[in-house]
Amino acid sequence: MKIGVLALQGDFAEHIAMLRRLGVEMVEVRLPHHLHDLDGLIIPGGESTTIGKLAIDFGLLQPLQEFGRSRAIWGTCAGAIFLSKDVGRPQPLLGLMDIKVARNAFGRQVDSFEADLDIPELNKISGVDRPYHAIFIRAPIIDEVYGQAKVLSRLDDGRIVAAQQGRLLATSFHPELTDDARFHEYFLSLAR
Ligand code: GLN
Repeated sequence: MKIGVLALQGDFAEHIAMLRRLGVEMVEVRLPHHLHDLDGLIIPGGESTTIGKLAIDFGLLQPLQEFGRSRAIWGTCAGAIFLSKDVGRPQPLLGLMDIKVARNAFGRQVDSFEADLDIPELNKISGVDRPYHAIFIRAPIIDEVYGQAKVLSRLDDGRIVAAQQGRLLATSFHPELTDDARFHEYFLSLAR
């Protein structure tokens, strides 16, 4: 199995470190031909407008959309925004997931926070029943999950922070910044 990490902008290095830790063959994706023989792709956190503009500049927008029609993609934070169909304002999007996202929904950088989440799918694949500690940095909220997408996790107040649509995953938070590899393992199980 070979997993790509979109390395245009943002915290791709942390995803790469996590994949190395899990012993997965990994490729940094900067150009369309890097997608060639991948089983899955991670789009990191960062700034979704910048990632979108760079994806257009490097001719990646259409290749990424095609990739996502048959293979696994996981977007964390800015990556989740980029995967969505609607952010309520004009910016380049892959438009692959039936989710509506609100950017910076918790406020500014200083309003970043951590929370323990209940994610039944992670408990299932790891066989361990324990909360998932999630880090939110100028995070988006997933306002609507419709069509083929389903909710994976909510905050205690009910707001949606993780969704899945077949092999596509979107998380408002940053699993690459924790020690807990369960979310990466879950994504690998979708890419397999
Ligand atoms: N606020 C960023 C955006 O709207 C996302 C932040 C992040 O990826 N940590 O694109």
